Amino acid sequence: DTIGANLDRTVAAHGDRDALVDMPSGRRWTYREFQADVDALASGLLARGVGKGDRVGIWAPNCPEWTLTQYATAKIGAILVNINPAYRAHELEYVLGQAGIRMLVSAERFKSSDYVAMIDEVRPRCSALSDVVYIGSDDWKSLASGPADPAKLAACERELSADDPINIQYTSGTTGFPKGATLSHHNILNNGFFVGELCKYTEADRICIPVPFYHCFGMVMGNLAATTHGCCMVIPAPGFDPKASLDAVQAEGCTSLYGVPTMFIAELAEPTFADYDLSTLRTGIMAGSPCPVEVMKQVIERMGMTEVSICYGMTETSPVSTQTRADDSIERRVSTVGRVGPHLEVKVVDPATGLTVPRGEPGELCTRGYSVMLGYWEQQDKTDEAIDKARWMHTGDLAVMDDEGYVTITGRIKDMVIRGGENIYPREIEEFLYTHPDILDAQVIGVPDAKYGEELMAWVRMREGAEPLTADTLRQFCEGKLAHYKVPRYVHVVDEFPMTVTGKVRKVEMRETAVELLG
Ligand code: ATP
Ligand code: MG
Repeated sequence: DTIGANLDRTVAAHGDRDALVDMPSGRRWTYREFQADVDALASGLLARGVGKGDRVGIWAPNCPEWTLTQYATAKIGAILVNINPAYRAHELEYVLGQAGIRMLVSAERFKSSDYVAMIDEVRPRCSALSDVVYIGSDDWKSLASGPADPAKLAACERELSADDPINIQYTSGTTGFPKGATLSHHNILNNGFFVGELCKYTEADRICIPVPFYHCFGMVMGNLAATTHGCCMVIPAPGFDPKASLDAVQAEGCTSLYGVPTMFIAELAEPTFADYDLSTLRTGIMAGSPCPVEVMKQVIERMGMTEVSICYGMTETSPVSTQTRADDSIERRVSTVGRVGPHLEVKVVDPATGLTVPRGEPGELCTRGYSVMLGYWEQQDKTDEAIDKARWMHTGDLAVMDDEGYVTITGRIKDMVIRGGENIYPREIEEFLYTHPDILDAQVIGVPDAKYGEELMAWVRMREGAEPLTADTLRQFCEGKLAHYKVPRYVHVVDEFPMTVTGKVRKVEMRETAVELLG
Protein backbone atom coordinates (compact mmCIF):
# COMPACT_ATOMS: atom_id res chain seq x y z
CA ASP A 1 0.00 0.00 0.00
CA THR A 2 0.86 3.66 -0.29
CA ILE A 3 -0.01 5.92 2.65
CA GLY A 4 -2.91 7.44 0.72
CA ALA A 5 -4.38 4.08 -0.26
CA ASN A 6 -4.04 2.87 3.30
CA LEU A 7 -5.89 5.89 4.65
CA ASP A 8 -8.73 5.28 2.18
CA ARG A 9 -8.96 1.71 3.46
CA THR A 10 -9.22 2.89 7.07
CA VAL A 11 -11.89 5.43 6.12
CA ALA A 12 -13.90 2.71 4.41
CA ALA A 13 -13.82 0.63 7.60
CA HIS A 14 -14.08 3.35 10.28
CA GLY A 15 -15.43 6.46 8.53
CA ASP A 16 -17.60 7.62 11.41
CA ARG A 17 -15.03 7.23 14.15
CA ASP A 18 -12.92 10.09 15.48
CA ALA A 19 -9.68 10.57 13.57
CA LEU A 20 -8.22 13.73 15.03
CA VAL A 21 -8.87 16.04 17.98
CA ASP A 22 -7.01 19.31 18.51
CA MET A 23 -7.29 20.31 22.18
CA PRO A 24 -6.19 23.98 21.91
CA SER A 25 -8.80 24.86 19.27
CA GLY A 26 -11.41 22.22 20.10
CA ARG A 27 -11.59 21.18 16.44
CA ARG A 28 -12.28 17.51 15.67
CA TRP A 29 -12.50 15.30 12.59
CA THR A 30 -14.07 11.91 11.96
CA TYR A 31 -12.14 9.69 9.53
CA ARG A 32 -14.51 10.66 6.73
CA GLU A 33 -14.06 14.37 7.47
CA PHE A 34 -10.32 13.91 7.78
CA GLN A 35 -10.14 12.19 4.41
CA ALA A 36 -12.23 14.94 2.81
CA ASP A 37 -9.81 17.60 4.12
CA VAL A 38 -6.77 15.57 3.06
CA ASP A 39 -8.20 15.20 -0.44
CA ALA A 40 -9.07 18.90 -0.66
CA LEU A 41 -5.55 19.87 0.38
CA ALA A 42 -3.98 17.29 -1.96
CA SER A 43 -6.03 18.68 -4.86
CA GLY A 44 -5.03 22.22 -3.88
CA LEU A 45 -1.36 21.24 -3.92
CA LEU A 46 -1.75 19.70 -7.39
CA ALA A 47 -3.48 22.83 -8.64
CA ARG A 48 -0.52 24.88 -7.42
CA GLY A 49 1.83 22.75 -9.46
CA VAL A 50 3.19 20.50 -6.71
CA GLY A 51 3.66 16.96 -7.99
CA LYS A 52 5.37 13.66 -7.44
CA GLY A 53 8.91 13.98 -6.08
CA ASP A 54 8.62 17.71 -5.31
CA ARG A 55 9.79 18.62 -1.85
CA VAL A 56 7.23 20.27 0.39
CA GLY A 57 8.65 21.58 3.66
CA ILE A 58 6.56 21.80 6.80
CA TRP A 59 7.63 24.11 9.57
CA ALA A 60 5.15 24.23 12.40
CA PRO A 61 4.58 22.91 15.90
CA ASN A 62 2.00 20.15 16.35
CA CYS A 63 -1.32 21.21 14.85
CA PRO A 64 -3.99 19.51 12.71
CA GLU A 65 -2.68 21.17 9.54
CA TRP A 66 0.62 19.37 10.09
CA THR A 67 -1.15 16.03 9.96
CA LEU A 68 -3.32 17.02 6.99
CA THR A 69 -0.21 18.09 5.09
CA GLN A 70 1.48 14.79 5.96
CA TYR A 71 -1.31 12.77 4.32
CA ALA A 72 -2.00 15.19 1.45
CA THR A 73 1.63 15.16 0.28
CA ALA A 74 1.75 11.36 0.56
CA LYS A 75 -1.38 11.11 -1.53
CA ILE A 76 0.17 12.95 -4.48
CA GLY A 77 3.67 11.52 -4.04
CA ALA A 78 5.30 14.81 -3.01
CA ILE A 79 8.17 14.43 -0.55
CA LEU A 80 7.36 15.94 2.84
CA VAL A 81 10.37 17.51 4.53
CA ASN A 82 9.94 17.83 8.29
CA ILE A 83 11.54 20.98 9.63
CA ASN A 84 12.40 21.27 13.31
CA PRO A 85 10.20 23.92 14.96
CA ALA A 86 13.17 25.12 17.01
CA TYR A 87 15.31 25.99 14.02
CA ARG A 88 16.67 29.50 13.60
CA ALA A 89 17.10 31.25 10.26
CA HIS A 90 20.47 29.74 9.36
CA GLU A 91 19.27 26.18 10.07
CA LEU A 92 16.10 26.79 8.08
CA GLU A 93 18.18 28.05 5.19
CA TYR A 94 20.33 24.92 5.33
CA VAL A 95 17.34 22.58 5.13
CA LEU A 96 15.57 24.59 2.43
CA GLY A 97 18.69 24.43 0.31
CA GLN A 98 19.82 20.91 1.17
CA ALA A 99 16.46 19.34 0.39
CA GLY A 100 15.65 21.69 -2.50
CA ILE A 101 12.30 22.62 -1.01
CA ARG A 102 9.86 24.02 -3.55
CA MET A 103 6.89 24.79 -1.35
CA LEU A 104 6.97 25.63 2.33
CA VAL A 105 3.94 25.21 4.58
CA SER A 106 4.64 27.19 7.72
CA ALA A 107 3.17 28.54 10.92
CA GLU A 108 3.51 32.29 11.35
CA ARG A 109 5.14 31.95 14.72
CA PHE A 110 5.83 29.54 17.54
CA LYS A 111 6.65 30.62 21.09
CA SER A 112 9.12 33.48 20.72
CA SER A 113 10.11 32.52 17.16
CA ASP A 114 8.91 34.77 14.38
CA TYR A 115 8.82 32.36 11.45
CA VAL A 116 7.64 35.00 8.98
CA ALA A 117 10.67 37.21 9.65
CA MET A 118 13.05 34.26 9.37
CA ILE A 119 11.51 33.09 6.10
CA ASP A 120 11.68 36.61 4.66
CA GLU A 121 15.31 36.79 5.67
CA VAL A 122 16.44 33.57 3.97
CA ARG A 123 14.06 33.48 1.00
CA PRO A 124 16.19 35.54 -1.39
CA ARG A 125 18.97 32.96 -1.01
CA CYS A 126 16.77 29.88 -1.55
CA SER A 127 16.36 29.55 -5.28
CA ALA A 128 14.27 26.38 -5.27
CA LEU A 129 11.67 27.85 -2.94
CA SER A 130 8.86 29.26 -5.08
CA ASP A 131 5.86 29.11 -2.76
CA VAL A 132 5.26 29.79 0.96
CA VAL A 133 1.86 29.23 2.56
CA TYR A 134 1.08 30.24 6.12
CA ILE A 135 -1.25 27.95 8.01
CA GLY A 136 -4.52 29.69 8.84
CA SER A 137 -4.06 32.53 6.34
CA ASP A 138 -6.56 33.21 3.53
CA ASP A 139 -4.01 31.72 1.18
CA TRP A 140 -4.02 28.51 3.24
CA LYS A 141 -7.81 28.44 3.21
CA SER A 142 -7.94 28.68 -0.56
CA LEU A 143 -5.26 25.98 -0.83
CA ALA A 144 -6.85 23.62 1.67
CA SER A 145 -10.59 24.14 1.32
CA GLY A 146 -11.17 24.00 -2.41
CA PRO A 147 -13.08 21.13 -4.01
CA ALA A 148 -11.30 17.80 -4.16
CA ASP A 149 -10.56 16.42 -7.61
CA PRO A 150 -11.12 12.66 -7.25
CA ALA A 151 -10.22 11.85 -10.87
CA LYS A 152 -6.86 13.62 -10.62
CA LEU A 153 -6.12 12.06 -7.23
CA ALA A 154 -6.88 8.60 -8.58
CA ALA A 155 -4.57 9.27 -11.53
CA CYS A 156 -1.85 10.34 -9.09
CA GLU A 157 -2.27 7.18 -7.03
CA ARG A 158 -1.70 5.04 -10.13
CA GLU A 159 1.68 6.73 -10.64
CA LEU A 160 2.91 5.97 -7.11
CA SER A 161 4.96 3.06 -5.88
CA ALA A 162 5.30 2.08 -2.24
CA ASP A 163 9.07 2.34 -2.61
CA ASP A 164 9.06 5.99 -3.73
CA PRO A 165 10.71 8.46 -1.38
CA ILE A 166 7.92 10.22 0.46
CA ASN A 167 9.54 11.87 3.43
CA ILE A 168 12.82 13.44 4.48
CA GLN A 169 13.26 13.49 8.24
CA TYR A 170 16.27 15.12 9.79
CA THR A 171 17.83 13.31 12.72
CA SER A 172 17.64 15.04 16.10
CA GLY A 173 21.15 16.44 15.93
CA THR A 174 22.02 15.01 19.34
CA THR A 175 25.54 14.07 18.38
CA GLY A 176 26.25 16.50 15.57
CA PHE A 177 24.68 18.08 12.53
CA PRO A 178 21.24 16.68 11.62
CA LYS A 179 21.19 14.40 8.57
CA GLY A 180 18.19 13.99 6.26
CA ALA A 181 16.95 10.40 6.26
CA THR A 182 15.01 9.67 3.08
CA LEU A 183 12.09 7.33 3.72
CA SER A 184 9.53 5.59 1.52
CA HIS A 185 5.82 4.80 2.01
CA HIS A 186 6.92 1.23 2.58
CA ASN A 187 9.41 2.24 5.29
CA ILE A 188 7.17 4.37 7.48
CA LEU A 189 3.73 2.93 6.77
CA ASN A 190 4.87 -0.54 7.79
CA ASN A 191 6.69 0.76 10.84
CA GLY A 192 3.64 2.69 12.02
CA PHE A 193 1.50 -0.39 11.41
CA PHE A 194 3.72 -2.79 13.36
CA VAL A 195 4.18 -0.37 16.26
CA GLY A 196 0.38 -0.21 16.43
CA GLU A 197 0.10 -4.00 16.25
CA LEU A 198 2.42 -4.46 19.21
CA CYS A 199 0.43 -1.83 21.15
CA LYS A 200 -2.67 -3.91 20.26
CA TYR A 201 -4.42 -0.85 18.84
CA THR A 202 -7.97 -1.10 17.58
CA GLU A 203 -10.40 1.57 16.42
CA ALA A 204 -11.35 2.03 20.09
CA ASP A 205 -7.94 3.49 20.99
CA ARG A 206 -7.31 7.19 21.46
CA ILE A 207 -3.68 8.25 21.45
CA CYS A 208 -2.43 11.38 23.19
CA ILE A 209 0.56 12.67 21.15
CA PRO A 210 2.62 15.36 22.89
CA VAL A 211 5.80 14.37 21.02
CA PRO A 212 6.65 16.50 17.97
CA PHE A 213 5.17 15.53 14.60
CA TYR A 214 8.30 16.83 12.96
CA HIS A 215 10.02 13.76 14.45
CA CYS A 216 9.25 10.13 13.59
CA PHE A 217 7.95 9.55 17.13
CA GLY A 218 5.00 11.84 16.38
CA MET A 219 4.36 11.31 12.69
CA VAL A 220 5.06 7.56 12.41
CA MET A 221 4.60 5.98 15.84
CA GLY A 222 1.78 8.46 16.50
CA ASN A 223 -0.06 9.37 13.33
CA LEU A 224 0.69 6.36 11.14
CA ALA A 225 0.17 3.84 13.95
CA ALA A 226 -3.20 5.53 14.51
CA THR A 227 -4.46 5.77 10.94
CA THR A 228 -3.44 2.19 10.10
CA HIS A 229 -5.66 1.03 12.98
CA GLY A 230 -8.50 3.54 12.90
CA CYS A 231 -7.46 5.10 16.23
CA CYS A 232 -8.01 8.72 17.18
CA MET A 233 -5.01 11.11 17.28
CA VAL A 234 -5.25 13.64 20.11
CA ILE A 235 -3.04 16.77 19.97
CA PRO A 236 -2.75 18.16 23.52
CA ALA A 237 -0.82 21.35 22.69
CA PRO A 238 1.49 22.80 20.04
CA GLY A 239 4.57 22.27 22.21
CA PHE A 240 5.05 20.07 25.25
CA ASP A 241 3.22 21.08 28.42
CA PRO A 242 2.76 18.40 31.09
CA LYS A 243 -0.57 19.79 32.23
CA ALA A 244 -1.94 19.94 28.69
CA SER A 245 -1.10 16.25 28.21
CA LEU A 246 -2.80 15.22 31.44
CA ASP A 247 -5.81 17.42 30.58
CA ALA A 248 -6.07 15.83 27.15
CA VAL A 249 -5.91 12.27 28.51
CA GLN A 250 -8.66 13.03 30.99
CA ALA A 251 -10.93 15.05 28.68
CA GLU A 252 -10.64 12.72 25.68
CA GLY A 253 -10.46 9.44 27.53
CA CYS A 254 -7.13 8.59 25.95
CA THR A 255 -6.05 4.96 26.15
CA SER A 256 -2.45 5.61 25.14
CA LEU A 257 0.10 8.31 25.98
CA TYR A 258 3.46 8.94 24.34
CA GLY A 259 6.58 10.64 25.58
CA VAL A 260 10.31 10.73 25.89
CA PRO A 261 11.42 9.99 29.46
CA THR A 262 11.69 13.67 30.43
CA MET A 263 8.05 14.23 29.46
CA PHE A 264 6.84 11.45 31.73
CA ILE A 265 9.08 12.78 34.51
CA ALA A 266 7.44 16.21 34.13
CA GLU A 267 3.90 14.77 34.08
CA LEU A 268 4.53 12.67 37.19
CA ALA A 269 6.00 15.71 38.97
CA GLU A 270 3.03 17.94 38.11
CA PRO A 271 1.74 19.29 41.47
CA THR A 272 -1.89 18.52 40.57
CA PHE A 273 -1.05 15.04 39.24
CA ALA A 274 -3.15 13.27 41.90
CA ASP A 275 -6.29 15.19 40.89
CA TYR A 276 -6.38 13.71 37.39
CA ASP A 277 -8.54 10.79 36.38
CA LEU A 278 -6.25 8.83 34.07
CA SER A 279 -8.16 5.57 34.40
CA THR A 280 -8.70 5.21 30.64
CA LEU A 281 -4.95 4.84 30.05
CA ARG A 282 -4.01 1.30 29.08
CA THR A 283 -0.82 1.65 27.10
CA GLY A 284 1.62 4.10 25.63
CA ILE A 285 5.18 4.41 24.42
CA MET A 286 8.29 5.69 26.08
CA ALA A 287 11.22 6.06 23.69
CA GLY A 288 13.82 8.34 22.23
CA SER A 289 16.46 8.12 24.92
CA PRO A 290 17.35 5.78 27.77
CA CYS A 291 14.18 5.02 29.76
CA PRO A 292 15.04 4.91 33.46
CA VAL A 293 13.66 1.86 35.29
CA GLU A 294 12.30 4.09 38.07
CA VAL A 295 10.32 6.22 35.63
CA MET A 296 8.92 3.15 33.86
CA LYS A 297 7.77 1.72 37.17
CA GLN A 298 5.97 4.95 38.06
CA VAL A 299 4.33 5.18 34.65
CA ILE A 300 2.93 1.69 35.18
CA GLU A 301 1.93 2.18 38.82
CA ARG A 302 0.89 5.82 39.06
CA MET A 303 -0.40 6.43 35.54
CA GLY A 304 -1.97 3.01 35.16
CA MET A 305 -0.29 2.40 31.81
CA THR A 306 -0.03 -1.29 32.55
CA GLU A 307 0.79 -2.27 28.96
CA VAL A 308 3.23 0.58 28.23
CA SER A 309 6.02 -0.24 25.75
CA ILE A 310 9.55 0.95 25.44
CA CYS A 311 10.57 1.38 21.82
CA TYR A 312 14.06 1.73 20.51
CA GLY A 313 14.88 3.08 17.11
CA MET A 314 16.28 5.90 15.07
CA THR A 315 15.11 8.22 12.33
CA GLU A 316 17.10 6.21 9.78
CA THR A 317 15.08 3.07 10.53
CA SER A 318 11.60 4.55 10.24
CA PRO A 319 12.16 4.55 13.35
CA VAL A 320 11.38 1.49 15.54
CA SER A 321 13.64 -1.59 15.60
CA THR A 322 12.85 -3.17 18.96
CA GLN A 323 9.86 -2.91 21.25
CA THR A 324 8.73 -4.44 24.52
CA ARG A 325 5.43 -6.31 24.43
CA ALA A 326 2.68 -6.23 27.03
CA ASP A 327 3.19 -9.94 27.75
CA ASP A 328 6.93 -9.64 28.39
CA SER A 329 7.90 -10.03 32.04
CA ILE A 330 7.68 -6.81 34.01
CA GLU A 331 11.40 -6.94 34.69
CA ARG A 332 12.17 -6.97 30.96
CA ARG A 333 9.55 -4.37 30.18
CA VAL A 334 11.19 -1.83 32.44
CA SER A 335 14.84 -2.68 31.91
CA THR A 336 15.23 -3.64 28.23
CA VAL A 337 14.10 -2.18 24.91
CA GLY A 338 12.42 -5.47 24.05
CA ARG A 339 12.93 -7.77 21.11
CA VAL A 340 13.25 -7.09 17.41
CA GLY A 341 10.04 -5.99 15.67
CA PRO A 342 8.18 -8.14 13.10
CA HIS A 343 10.00 -8.62 9.77
CA LEU A 344 13.20 -7.01 11.02
CA GLU A 345 16.61 -8.30 12.03
CA VAL A 346 19.01 -6.98 14.66
CA LYS A 347 22.50 -8.09 15.60
CA VAL A 348 25.24 -6.88 17.94
CA VAL A 349 28.72 -6.62 16.45
CA ASP A 350 32.21 -5.77 17.55
CA PRO A 351 32.68 -2.32 15.96
CA ALA A 352 36.33 -3.09 15.26
CA THR A 353 35.87 -6.38 13.41
CA GLY A 354 32.23 -6.25 12.35
CA LEU A 355 31.74 -9.79 13.71
CA THR A 356 28.70 -10.70 15.78
CA VAL A 357 29.59 -10.87 19.47
CA PRO A 358 28.34 -13.66 21.77
CA ARG A 359 25.01 -13.05 23.50
CA GLY A 360 25.46 -11.04 26.67
CA GLU A 361 28.46 -9.11 25.40
CA PRO A 362 28.33 -5.45 24.40
CA GLY A 363 28.82 -4.20 20.88
CA GLU A 364 27.28 -2.00 18.22
CA LEU A 365 23.66 -2.66 17.38
CA CYS A 366 22.84 -3.12 13.67
CA THR A 367 19.40 -3.31 12.06
CA ARG A 368 18.22 -4.73 8.75
CA GLY A 369 14.88 -5.05 7.01
CA TYR A 370 12.04 -3.07 5.47
CA SER A 371 12.59 -0.17 7.85
CA VAL A 372 16.07 0.86 6.73
CA MET A 373 15.93 4.24 4.99
CA LEU A 374 16.60 4.68 1.29
CA GLY A 375 19.63 6.79 2.29
CA TYR A 376 20.61 10.23 3.56
CA TRP A 377 19.26 12.84 1.16
CA GLU A 378 22.08 13.77 -1.22
CA GLN A 379 24.78 12.54 1.14
CA GLN A 380 25.90 9.31 -0.46
CA ASP A 381 29.16 9.23 1.52
CA LYS A 382 27.32 9.38 4.84
CA THR A 383 24.85 6.75 3.60
CA ASP A 384 27.73 4.42 2.74
CA GLU A 385 29.22 4.89 6.21
CA ALA A 386 25.94 4.01 7.90
CA ILE A 387 24.53 1.22 5.70
CA ASP A 388 26.90 -1.56 4.70
CA LYS A 389 26.83 -3.65 1.54
CA ALA A 390 24.61 -6.28 3.12
CA ARG A 391 22.05 -3.50 3.94
CA TRP A 392 22.76 -3.48 7.68
CA MET A 393 22.22 -0.08 9.30
CA HIS A 394 24.99 0.61 11.84
CA THR A 395 23.24 2.51 14.60
CA GLY A 396 26.14 3.94 16.60
CA ASP A 397 24.42 2.61 19.71
CA LEU A 398 25.96 0.14 22.13
CA ALA A 399 23.79 -2.79 23.10
CA VAL A 400 23.71 -6.19 24.74
CA MET A 401 21.37 -8.95 23.57
CA ASP A 402 20.44 -11.76 25.97
CA ASP A 403 19.81 -15.40 25.11
CA GLU A 404 16.16 -14.78 24.38
CA GLY A 405 16.78 -11.80 22.14
CA TYR A 406 15.98 -9.00 24.57
CA VAL A 407 18.12 -5.97 23.84
CA THR A 408 19.49 -3.50 26.36
CA ILE A 409 20.91 -0.22 25.09
CA THR A 410 23.97 0.67 27.10
CA GLY A 411 24.66 4.03 25.48
CA ARG A 412 25.96 5.65 22.36
CA ILE A 413 29.43 4.76 21.15
CA LYS A 414 30.17 8.49 21.21
CA ASP A 415 29.12 8.80 24.88
CA MET A 416 31.09 5.88 26.26
CA VAL A 417 33.71 6.99 28.76
CA ILE A 418 37.12 5.36 28.96
CA ARG A 419 38.68 6.12 32.33
CA GLY A 420 42.12 4.72 32.93
CA GLY A 421 41.46 1.93 30.44
CA GLU A 422 38.09 0.95 31.91
CA ASN A 423 35.04 1.22 29.64
CA ILE A 424 32.29 2.99 31.55
CA TYR A 425 28.71 3.17 30.35
CA PRO A 426 27.21 6.42 31.72
CA ARG A 427 23.78 4.81 31.51
CA GLU A 428 24.60 2.43 34.36
CA ILE A 429 25.58 5.27 36.67
CA GLU A 430 22.56 7.34 35.66
CA GLU A 431 20.29 4.43 36.58
CA PHE A 432 21.97 4.26 39.97
CA LEU A 433 21.60 8.02 40.57
CA TYR A 434 17.89 7.77 39.82
CA THR A 435 17.52 5.71 42.98
CA HIS A 436 18.62 8.74 45.07
CA PRO A 437 15.49 10.20 46.69
CA ASP A 438 16.49 13.83 46.10
CA ILE A 439 17.53 13.47 42.48
CA LEU A 440 14.89 14.27 39.88
CA ASP A 441 17.01 13.60 36.81
CA ALA A 442 20.65 12.71 36.24
CA GLN A 443 23.09 12.59 33.33
CA VAL A 444 26.68 11.44 33.37
CA ILE A 445 29.38 12.51 30.93
CA GLY A 446 33.11 12.04 30.48
CA VAL A 447 35.38 15.05 30.82
CA PRO A 448 39.05 15.20 29.81
CA ASP A 449 41.51 14.35 32.56
CA ALA A 450 45.29 14.48 32.47
CA LYS A 451 45.80 11.39 34.62
CA TYR A 452 43.02 9.01 33.59
CA GLY A 453 42.25 10.25 30.09
CA GLU A 454 38.68 10.89 31.15
CA GLU A 455 36.87 11.45 34.44
CA LEU A 456 33.15 11.22 35.16
CA MET A 457 30.96 14.22 35.81
CA ALA A 458 27.37 13.89 36.97
CA TRP A 459 24.85 16.58 36.06
CA VAL A 460 21.85 16.41 38.35
CA ARG A 461 18.51 18.13 38.71
CA MET A 462 17.38 18.12 42.35
CA ARG A 463 13.82 17.67 43.54
CA GLU A 464 12.13 20.76 44.86
CA GLY A 465 13.44 21.76 48.30
CA ALA A 466 16.25 19.19 48.32
CA GLU A 467 19.80 20.06 49.36
CA PRO A 468 22.03 20.38 46.29
CA LEU A 469 24.26 17.35 45.86
CA THR A 470 28.03 17.83 46.17
CA ALA A 471 30.90 15.62 45.09
CA ASP A 472 31.25 14.55 48.74
CA THR A 473 27.62 13.68 49.41
CA LEU A 474 27.51 11.84 46.09
CA ARG A 475 30.60 9.84 47.03
CA GLN A 476 28.97 8.85 50.31
CA PHE A 477 25.82 7.76 48.47
CA CYS A 478 27.83 5.63 46.03
CA GLU A 479 30.08 4.10 48.68
CA GLY A 480 29.93 0.34 48.64
CA LYS A 481 27.33 0.33 45.87
CA LEU A 482 29.36 1.35 42.83
CA ALA A 483 32.89 0.30 41.86
CA HIS A 484 35.25 3.14 42.83
CA TYR A 485 36.13 4.04 39.25
CA LYS A 486 32.45 4.52 38.42
CA VAL A 487 31.87 7.12 41.12
CA PRO A 488 31.65 10.53 39.43
CA ARG A 489 34.48 12.81 40.46
CA TYR A 490 32.55 16.00 39.68
CA VAL A 491 28.96 17.05 40.32
CA HIS A 492 27.16 19.87 38.59
CA VAL A 493 23.68 20.82 39.82
CA VAL A 494 21.44 22.40 37.16
CA ASP A 495 17.79 23.35 36.64
CA GLU A 496 17.65 22.00 33.09
CA PHE A 497 19.83 19.95 30.77
CA PRO A 498 20.58 21.22 27.28
CA MET A 499 17.98 19.46 25.12
CA THR A 500 16.98 18.93 21.50
CA VAL A 501 13.35 19.64 20.59
CA THR A 502 12.79 15.91 20.50
CA GLY A 503 13.58 15.87 24.22
CA LYS A 504 17.04 14.35 24.03
CA VAL A 505 19.82 15.46 26.26
CA ARG A 506 22.65 17.03 24.27
CA LYS A 507 25.69 15.53 25.91
CA VAL A 508 27.89 17.16 23.30
CA GLU A 509 26.87 20.54 24.68
CA MET A 510 27.25 19.37 28.28
CA ARG A 511 30.81 18.27 27.57
CA GLU A 512 31.62 21.67 26.07
CA THR A 513 30.19 23.42 29.13
CA ALA A 514 32.01 21.04 31.46
CA VAL A 515 35.34 21.76 29.83
CA GLU A 516 34.73 25.48 30.40
CA LEU A 517 33.63 24.90 34.01
CA LEU A 518 36.73 22.91 34.81
CA GLY A 519 38.79 25.59 33.08
P1 ATP B 1 21.79 12.52 15.56
O1 ATP B 1 21.81 11.24 14.82
O2 ATP B 1 21.51 13.70 14.67
O3 ATP B 1 22.94 12.75 16.45
P2 ATP B 1 19.77 11.27 17.20
O4 ATP B 1 20.52 10.01 16.98
O5 ATP B 1 19.36 11.61 18.60
O6 ATP B 1 20.53 12.52 16.58
P3 ATP B 1 17.21 10.27 16.39
O7 ATP B 1 17.17 9.51 15.13
O8 ATP B 1 16.05 11.15 16.73
O9 ATP B 1 18.45 11.24 16.33
O10 ATP B 1 17.40 9.33 17.65
C1 ATP B 1 17.86 8.00 17.57
C2 ATP B 1 18.71 7.68 18.77
O11 ATP B 1 17.98 7.85 20.00
C3 ATP B 1 19.18 6.25 18.81
O12 ATP B 1 20.31 6.06 17.98
C4 ATP B 1 19.47 6.05 20.29
O13 ATP B 1 20.76 6.55 20.64
C5 ATP B 1 18.43 6.90 20.98
N1 ATP B 1 17.30 6.10 21.45
C6 ATP B 1 16.10 5.96 20.86
N2 ATP B 1 15.29 5.17 21.59
C7 ATP B 1 16.00 4.78 22.68
C8 ATP B 1 15.72 3.95 23.82
N3 ATP B 1 14.53 3.38 24.00
N4 ATP B 1 16.71 3.76 24.72
C9 ATP B 1 17.91 4.34 24.55
N5 ATP B 1 18.22 5.14 23.52
C10 ATP B 1 17.28 5.37 22.58
MG1 MG C 1 21.49 9.29 15.28
